[in-house]
Parts: sequence; structure tokens; C-alpha cells
Amino acid sequence: MTAVIIDGKGFAERLRGRIGTLAAQFEEQAGRKAGLAVVLVGEDPASQVYVRGKHRATVGAGMESFEHRLAADTSQADLLALVERLNADDAVDGILVQLPLPDHLDEQAVIAAIAPEKDVDGFHVINAGRLATGGTGFVPCTPYGCIMLLRDRLGDLSGMDAVVIGRSNIVGKPMAQLLLGENCTVTIAHSRTKDLPAVVGRADIVVAAVGRPEMVKGEWLKDGATVIDVGINRVAASEEGKTRLVGDVDFGGASERAGAITPVPGGVGPMTIAVLLRNTLVSAFRREGLELDESAL
Ligand code: NAD
Repeated sequence: MTAVIIDGKGFAERLRGRIGTLAAQFEEQAGRKAGLAVVLVGEDPASQVYVRGKHRATVGAGMESFEHRLAADTSQADLLALVERLNADDAVDGILVQLPLPDHLDEQAVIAAIAPEKDVDGFHVINAGRLATGGTGFVPCTPYGCIMLLRDRLGDLSGMDAVVIGRSNIVGKPMAQLLLGENCTVTIAHSRTKDLPAVVGRADIVVAAVGRPEMVKGEWLKDGATVIDVGINRVAASEEGKTRLVGDVDFGGASERAGAITPVPGGVGPMTIAVLLRNTLVSAFRREGLELDESAL
């Protein structure tokens, strides 16, 4: 079998188009733009790239982007004071603190300080709890993007066997909750799982969120499985001195066995920013008490 390539980039572009239309509608109704505040502490190069990308996408969708760049030695108290100001700022619908923070800062305390109704990353324990108990909150962007791709590809996921490899709070655990919400039978595999190939071999849906280049092999997969590769790993390219990005799945091998697969890059990655914009817009409509058909997003 040669797998269908799941075009996350194209899907994300179409989603951003719909978000742009609704952002204009929001501006007309509310008399202001929806606003996303992004806080970056320090000069981590990868974080700087992500923050630039988020800024461009936010402005591109017709929303306001408020960037707060703080020095690497910013104190916990100063960072918390900024979060408090953003919580109280009516022009700000979403707050994102770019992780990881420098070692001297307490990430959990900073996330806990963000008002849950502005926590568009969905990392606050209130939003994690709402996801776990079926309430309405914000869902972390990457797993939500994966579910959108799966629904688009497979339609009803009810009764399917799904394996999530990885149990982080950002990807693995919320991914498993979302699949459970879609009535899948869910297995969470992790670094202590015994016989991972056998666990993966039972799955109709495999979501890999490990951070190990090409760890999941094609021969592990059940014929026709749908594979969502969340991993982003930079490895040496064949050309000396160059690097390239690969996922957590051996794309070549998996393509021969899977029914459909997301590529890296161009699969899950573009969905993450699109869902961040979606969550910000949803927050804006909710905060202004305006009607929004969230299923249109
Ligand atoms: P993490 O390091 O927090 O978690 C990795 C998980 O993998 C852990 O739960 C661990 O138990 C599991 N694991 C480690 N080794 C394993 C093994 N040998 N077998 C089975 N499980 C194993 O990572 P994360 O933040 O969840 O990110 C995972 C990957 O997804 C990374 O490559 C990251 O760059 C990528 N990522 C991509 C996006 C995106 O937008 N596409 C967003 C977030 C993370």
C-alpha cells in the first residue's frame, strides 16, 4: 500500500483563511481586533523563530499581536506582574508564554497565573481539567490540530484503536483525551512501554509524539493505519554541514504500509499555529459575548 499524504500545510492554510474572514467579522461587531499577547523571555534561537512565526500569522489573520520580549535574567516577580497586566488588559484575548523558560523561572507557576479564559495554549490546569471532564475550555494547539486532520481524513473515529506514543502534558496526554472524546479505544505508550512494535501493530491510528528521529518503523504498523507524526527532529543531512527535519516516524517505510500519513515538515507543524489563531478568535468572541459557530472552525 502507498499511503495518502495528509496535507497539513494545505489544511492549515484553508483554516487560516476561515479565521481571517471571522476575524474581520469580529472586528466589525466588537469595534476592535482580536488580540494575542506573546511573551518571550531570553534569546533562545528556536523560540525566537516560533515567536516571529506566531506574530506574522496573527497579523496576517487580521488580529492584533502584542509582543513582549523580556531579558533572560527577568525575575519571576516581574514575569508574573506582566502576566497579571495582560490578564487585566481588555485588548488581549489570548496570552501565550513561550516555553521553555530560562531555568531560574518556575514554568508551572507562570502558566497557573494566566487567566484560564485567556489561556489559548490550553496548558492551565483548569483547561486540562475541562478537557479531561468533557467541559468547554481551551485545548492545546498541537493535539487539537492532529484531531482536525484525523476527522478530515477518517470522518467518524468511533471504535477505532488509537495508540499515542508519548505522555507529555503538551501533546501526548491531551491527544489521548481528545481521541477518547472521539470514542476511540486509546492506548498511551511511553518510554517504559514493553514491546512497542506490538502495541503499535494493533492501532488503526498512530500518533507519534516522542522526539526521537524516525523511531517508529514501517513494519510495526498495521496495514492501512493512519499515522500522525508530531515529532520535529533536526538531523544531519547527506550534504556536509547541512541539516534537515525528520519526524518520529520512518516516513519511507511507513508510507509503504500506512493508509495515510502526515509528512514532516508540512504535516502537523502548520496546524499548531493555525489552532493558536483559532483559539484566540474563539476567546475574543466569547469574551465579547458574541455569537460564533465554533464548528465552522
Ligand atoms: P517530551 O519530551 O515532553 O515527551 C516525549 C515523550 O516520549 C515522553 O512522554 C516519553 O515517555 C516518550 N518517550 C521517550 N522515549 C520513548 C521511547 N523510546 N518509546 C516510547 N516513548 C518514548 O516531548 P513533547 O513536548 O511531547 O514533544 C514530542 C515531539 O513532538 C518532539 O519532537 C517535539 O519537537 C514535537 N512537537 C511538535 C509540535 C508541532 O507543532 N508539530 C509541537 C510540540 C511538540
